[in-house]
Amino acid sequence: MSDPIIIVGGGQAAVQLCLALRKEKVNAPVLMMSEESEYPYHRPPLSKSFLTGETDEDKLLMRPETFYDSKQIDVELNTQVRSIDTSARTVSTASGEKSYQSLVLVTGARPRQLPLPGASLEGVHLLRDLQHSKNIKSALNTAQHIVVVGAGFIGLEFAAVAAGMNKAVTVFDMADRVMARAVSPDVSSWFEKTHRRQGVDIRLNDSISEILGESSVSQVKTASGDLLPCDLLLIGVGVIPNDDLANAAGITCDNGIVVNEFCETSASDVYAAGDCANHPNPFAQGNRVRLESIQNATDQARVVASAIAGNKTPYQSVPWFWSDQAGHSLQMAGLSNSSNQFVVRGDIEGESFSVFHYSAGQLQSVDSVNSPRDHMLARKLIGGQISPAIEQAADVNFELKSLLL
Ligand SMILES: Cc1cc2nc3c(=O)[nH]c(=O)nc-3n(C[C@H](O)[C@H](O)[C@H](O)COP(=O)(O)OP(=O)(O)OC[C@H]3O[C@@H](n4cnc5c(N)ncnc54)[C@H](O)[C@@H]3O)c2cc1C
Repeated sequence: MSDPIIIVGGGQAAVQLCLALRKEKVNAPVLMMSEESEYPYHRPPLSKSFLTGETDEDKLLMRPETFYDSKQIDVELNTQVRSIDTSARTVSTASGEKSYQSLVLVTGARPRQLPLPGASLEGVHLLRDLQHSKNIKSALNTAQHIVVVGAGFIGLEFAAVAAGMNKAVTVFDMADRVMARAVSPDVSSWFEKTHRRQGVDIRLNDSISEILGESSVSQVKTASGDLLPCDLLLIGVGVIPNDDLANAAGITCDNGIVVNEFCETSASDVYAAGDCANHPNPFAQGNRVRLESIQNATDQARVVASAIAGNKTPYQSVPWFWSDQAGHSLQMAGLSNSSNQFVVRGDIEGESFSVFHYSAGQLQSVDSVNSPRDHMLARKLIGGQISPAIEQAADVNFELKSLLL
């Protein structure tokens, strides 16, 4: 039997790759090796509906176990790939070496820790995998004073869940606005007000300098020296790509595993996709980016499958992302890049509006708050490189759809 296509990782990109390979009629054996003990599951609910109890654990699985058999995919769980030899074309695990015909690295990312005294105390949490989320869910049963470091998507989603359970929640961020790297100032300000209305204490331009407690966290010290009670601390300050394995194998890495538009790495027959892949993106003027989204993991996995099938297709998908916070839906299309002009469409004092980001008169991205229709149109406009005039974007009576005809 021929050597398998080995997939290292068992997350979003891995599952999509299994599907896409078979769809592309690649009949080679496929082996997915995941260090986790669960079959691949959805991560987005881990900071949202899984914590509130709306989504049960059995609904998290992306595909039932039988799916892998039905597609003739071998799965090895609890299996960490420790090294890669790109000349011998092998990977090694605790139980030995395996040869590959193609290797796909979909190793994702891990949460960044805070290098602070007390960071290893009980009650200090990170949030990336199911076990993290289970730990947090169980801690929420008793915790009363919750501190979140990082007003990004995960920090704010969690803050909203905890505030909804009537906990005292304080969120710190070094930036001067929430979700500063991802959304327009207007959208930051709208969400800041919304979280404050829910009772969340948001402290911007501020952070914590120490985590205090005997064996569990009981207080945090702020940068300005205040002490706050705290029995659950979530650190949500971004992620680090899992590129160490590739790096040690001599594969080019730079803030992730460097790939070209076909998701090929610097080693032959070795591909990377998803959160771990640093790729050239046409919606970032061809600049290299590393995206952390379901869209990117899914679409890059398809690009890898097409390359393995000998039907190379470059990665050209419109980036998009969503976040659910305090009962509100935020959807983003495109990449903001160098945007310096922001145009509001709809009623920013109300519940539903969008902000169009422009750079040199060209539409770059759109943030939509409770406006799924704007979001879907934005994906099409950005994908087709169609820029509504600024007056058209600002006028809710102007049918953006007419530009697509
Ligand atoms: C709490 C949370 C909420 C999120 N919410 C959203 C959202 O609302 N919208 C959105 O678009 N995105 C969201 N994301 C991001 C999204 O889940 C990720 O972008 C996506 O999962 C990336 O897929 P991936 O396959 O690249 O990596 P992952 O899904 O992280 O999978 C990587 C897998 O590789 C395994 N692995 C790593 N190294 C090895 C090794 N050496 N050997 C074997 N296995 C290994 C890991 O354990 C993991 O199972 C969220 C993420 C989190 C954590």
